[in-house]
Amino acid sequence: NRAYLGAMEAARGLNAYVLETPEIALERAAESDARIAKGEAGPLEGLPLGVKDLYCTEGVRTTACSKILGDFTPPYESFVTAKMRADGAVMLGKLNNDEFAMGSSNETSAFGVVINPWRRKGSDAALVAGGSSGGSSAAVAARIALGATATDTGGSIRQPAAFTGTVGVKPTYGRCSRWGIVAFASSLDQAGPIARDVRDAAILMRSMAGYDKRDSTSVDRPVPDYEAAVGRSVKGLTIGVPKEYRVDGMPAEIEKLWSDGAERLKAAGAEIVEVSLPHTKYALPAYYIVAPAEASSNLARYDGVRYGARVAGRDVTEMYENTRAAGFGAEVRRRIMIGAYVLSAGYYDAYYVRAQKVRTLIKRDFETVFADGVDAILTPATPSAAFGVGEMANASPVEMYLNDVFTVTVNMAGLPGIAVPAGLSSEGLPLALQLIGRPFDEETLFSTGAVIE
Ligand code: GLN
Repeated sequence: NRAYLGAMEAARGLNAYVLETPEIALERAAESDARIAKGEAGPLEGLPLGVKDLYCTEGVRTTACSKILGDFTPPYESFVTAKMRADGAVMLGKLNNDEFAMGSSNETSAFGVVINPWRRKGSDAALVAGGSSGGSSAAVAARIALGATATDTGGSIRQPAAFTGTVGVKPTYGRCSRWGIVAFASSLDQAGPIARDVRDAAILMRSMAGYDKRDSTSVDRPVPDYEAAVGRSVKGLTIGVPKEYRVDGMPAEIEKLWSDGAERLKAAGAEIVEVSLPHTKYALPAYYIVAPAEASSNLARYDGVRYGARVAGRDVTEMYENTRAAGFGAEVRRRIMIGAYVLSAGYYDAYYVRAQKVRTLIKRDFETVFADGVDAILTPATPSAAFGVGEMANASPVEMYLNDVFTVTVNMAGLPGIAVPAGLSSEGLPLALQLIGRPFDEETLFSTGAVIE
C-alpha cells in the first residue's frame, strides 16, 4: 500500500484521484496485516483500491465531481464499498468521474479532465481516459490502483475500460446494490469493477455483488464464485454476432478485431452464429430520453438546502435558482432540461412513453436471441480508440453520445456486459470487445472474456 501511495503522488498529472486518503489507507493496511497475521484474511485483504467519487464513503468527501455537492461528507458508506471493506479492501482515495456520471470522456468533471496513460505512437498529445469512470480506468491502467469501483448507466464502466486496456464489468441490473451511490438514472445505473484482467475483475465482482434490502431493485440470489468461471472451457457455447452492430463507417481495424475475437472463441470450441437485434438503432435515441428524464428527477434534490453548496438569493426560489445555476455544469444542465421537457405534459406520451416502449422492444430482441440458444453476444465495445483531450470540444453533444452506441443497449435491457482488451489500433492504442450475457449469467462473461483477453 505504501508503494501505491508513492506511485499516486508521481502520477498526479493524470488527475485520476480527486481526493487521496493516505491516512485511511495506511490505517486499513495495518488492520489487514493484523488479520493476515491471525489467519483471518478476507477475500480482498489488503488490496489497494480506488473508489469512484459517485460512491458515498463514510466521513470522506463525496462530490460526484459536481460543484453542487461542495464538501459533502456522507455519514454513511455505500453498500458495495462497505462490503468490499468488510472483505479487507484498502481505499487509496476517491476517483475522478464526469459530473454526476454524465459523459463519455471525463471532461465534464468539476475537478477537470482525466488523462489517459496511453499515447498514440509517436505523439505526446494527451488522450481522454473515457467516461464517466475515467478516474477509475486511468488509475488501474497507470497501476496507481490495483482495481477500482465504477458505475455504468450507458457504458461508463465498459467504454473507459476499452480506452485504457483494462477490463470493465457492468453486472446485471439488480446484481449490485445502488444504495449509497449518487443516482443518475436509477433504472439503468449499476455498480461494477474496473480491473487489470478478467480474473481480478471476477474477484472484485464477487465482493461487490449481493442482496441489499435497502435497494428495492436489488435481487436476492446467491453470488457465484466468479473466479471459478475464469479458465472454464467455452466448448459447446453458442456466441451470437449481431449484424446490426456492423454500423456504417465502422473502422476496418474494429471490424478485424471483432472477427479475430470470434475466431479465438471458435478455436476454443465455441460455435459462432449470426444473430439479429432489429431494434438496435433506436437504443441510443431512446436512452437519451430515458436517462435525462430520470436524471432530471433525481437531481431535483440538489436545492441548496439538503446538501453541499448554497448560493443566497432574495427569497427561497431565487436561492434554488442561484444554487443550481452555479452548482451544475453545462452537460448536467442540458440533461435536466431535456429530462424536464420529455416529462412535461403534452410531450410525455410523444417522448417518454414512446422511449419506454422502445426499451421493451430492445429487451425482447435480446430475449429472443437468448431463447434461441445463444449463450453470449460478441460486439465491439466502442466505435473507436481513445480520442484526444479537447478533440470533441467543438463537436455537437450528439457526436459524443455516439460513443455509447454499442453499450447503451445492455443497460436498456438490464443485461450484464464485459469489456475486454482485444488488441491495439494502428496507432498503438488499446481496443476492446464486449460480451453481453443472459441476466445473472456473469459467469459466462468471465469464461468467454478470459478467452478473448
Ligand atoms: N456516456 C453516457 C452518458 O453520458 C453513459 C454515462 C454512464 O454510463 N454513466 O449518459
